[in-house]
Amino acid sequence: MNAMRVEINPEVAAFLAREHRLFIDGEWSAAVSGARIAVFDPATGSQIASVPRAGAEDVDRAVAAAHRAHESGVWSGLPPATRERVLLRLADLIEAHAEELAQLETCNQGKSINISRMIDVGASPSYLRYVAGLATKITGETFDVSIQAIPGARFNAYTRREPIGVVAAIAPWNFPLAIGLWKVAPALAAGCTVVLKPSEVTPLTSLRLAELALEAGAPPGVLNVVTGDGQAGQALVAHPLVSKVTFTGSTATGKAIARAAADRMARTSLELGGKNPAIFLKDAPLEQAVNGALVAAFFNNGQVCAAASRLYVAREIYSDFVDALSAAARGMSLGPGLDPAAQINPLVSAEHRDKVLSHVSRAREGGARIIAGGAAPPGAGYFIEPTVIVDAAESLPICRQEVFGPVVTITPFDDERDAIRMANDTPMGLGASLWTNDLKKTMDYVPRLKAGTVWVNCHVFVDPNMPFGGYKESGVGRDFGIRALEPYTELKSVCIAH
Ligand code: NDP
Repeated sequence: MNAMRVEINPEVAAFLAREHRLFIDGEWSAAVSGARIAVFDPATGSQIASVPRAGAEDVDRAVAAAHRAHESGVWSGLPPATRERVLLRLADLIEAHAEELAQLETCNQGKSINISRMIDVGASPSYLRYVAGLATKITGETFDVSIQAIPGARFNAYTRREPIGVVAAIAPWNFPLAIGLWKVAPALAAGCTVVLKPSEVTPLTSLRLAELALEAGAPPGVLNVVTGDGQAGQALVAHPLVSKVTFTGSTATGKAIARAAADRMARTSLELGGKNPAIFLKDAPLEQAVNGALVAAFFNNGQVCAAASRLYVAREIYSDFVDALSAAARGMSLGPGLDPAAQINPLVSAEHRDKVLSHVSRAREGGARIIAGGAAPPGAGYFIEPTVIVDAAESLPICRQEVFGPVVTITPFDDERDAIRMANDTPMGLGASLWTNDLKKTMDYVPRLKAGTVWVNCHVFVDPNMPFGGYKESGVGRDFGIRALEPYTELKSVCIAH
């Protein structure tokens, strides 16, 4: 392993050394139970911090604070341009603290410092500024009623969009700060108040975000952060004062949240898992196809909901593709996220590494061939070699279940219709990509792919202006786009007789 590590900044070291607390009503407070969760560095497996394990009482305090802030109008009653300015200031503060936040994310999540700098932290100010601009564009419609129900009566009607209330934002561990912001920013822009629960394994940047939001001018109670495990998440979802849950994570947890929220008709937006296909037609230029597949499959060590984990490759280019991709995978360097030259970094936790390894073992037992990687290298840290699998029957779990690691299957096809059928043959439908320069085929196949996003000659690219979410069991609703605020509002019709 290469040891050219980035030295962590003094402010990151100081933050790690703090006694972390919950952020409720603009103040730090301990969990009522006093229980704590250890936080680890995935590159070494050593503990770097601990955070409170919030219980139901703590969740209740946070939701009560958010509810008070909402009812008081301290946020929802502000002119939208003032909310916009606070979010713009938050974007500036994230930019000002970019290196600190990036290092913190890498220390806690394990990912490459390059990704933390460019995506988790680097792309967040642009996203915040995009969403901030939407705060001043919340509109209703005016319209005439359509029938003359009462002879002689005249009506005029219009709609208004009102902030929905307290939003529970539950974030996963793969892009903790960025996905946390995907949830928090539109809720705040719409005038809602928020309780954010980061994953118990990656809570640190969310705690720093809470401080920065206060500094940016979000009044106390508007953004609260509770650290805790799935039980804290459950308590949030079940809380009667939470009007909406916005969640990114696994399909299993998404279903549990949808069921719990349905009990009291709390609104939900769910961005869930994927088992995303990439289809390479025979005209796809080999070098571009292989480089694209490497990024699609192994970016962020495969811990990406939209990662391409199933590659379908035209028979004509199959063996060259397999040779080139497996050689490239074997040549990737493993190392800690703080080493900018390392191409593959540790997975987020020991538990997750073991889960990914068990997916690989089951694939091997099922008759698939592992032609690159497949093992955890000796030594500390939660590493797994980038893994390429061929000859996997479509019915094997490796072709059907989300693995969420640096593991990819490659399957040949002779008939392009078979490739589309195999691509769609999964309960999930988050993303898919098609690699070809054939315009007619592109136009034919894009509508047939059952996925919330179809990329052509690229994969995993997301943009604040491009709606993102899933078909089928990959979720409900969309993040991003000019309608990003709508799920955080209720639509009220007003009818005036005159
Ligand atoms: P989860 O879906 O369990 O966790 C996501 C978030 O939900 C975390 O904050 C988690 O808290 C919280 N949570 C867990 N249970 C509940 C509950 N019942 N009610 C409310 N909130 C809850 O993901 P895991 O961490 O367990 O990862 C498992 C798998 O999920 C991965 O292997 C991957 O396949 C998939 N995944 C998909 C992601 C995506 O981007 N779509 C992101 C992350 C994971 P806590 O972490 O503290 O338990």
